[in-house]
Amino acid sequence: MSTFSGEIKKIEVNRDSCAGVGACVSIAPQIFQLDDEGKAVVDESNKVNKETLLSAAKSCPHNAISLYDEEGKVIPL
Ligand code: SF4
Repeated sequence: MSTFSGEIKKIEVNRDSCAGVGACVSIAPQIFQLDDEGKAVVDESNKVNKETLLSAAKSCPHNAISLYDEEGKVIPL
């Protein structure tokens, strides 16, 4: 369980690091989808609870997902 108590304001996938493993897609398919190149893309028009988002970001074996707080700082995973 994360101790992060703020709000997640931005989600980013580093395409160079993403290997298309799909762990993030399994956990939060509303937010993460694989594109034509097999890389994860983010759909921020959908909402998902914070814990799910944190789990999805942590699940990435390549640390390709970054989450940012209200101040634009990277949230430690
Ligand atoms: S879990 Fe990581 S490597 Fe796998 S698709 Fe998601 S961002 Fe890419």
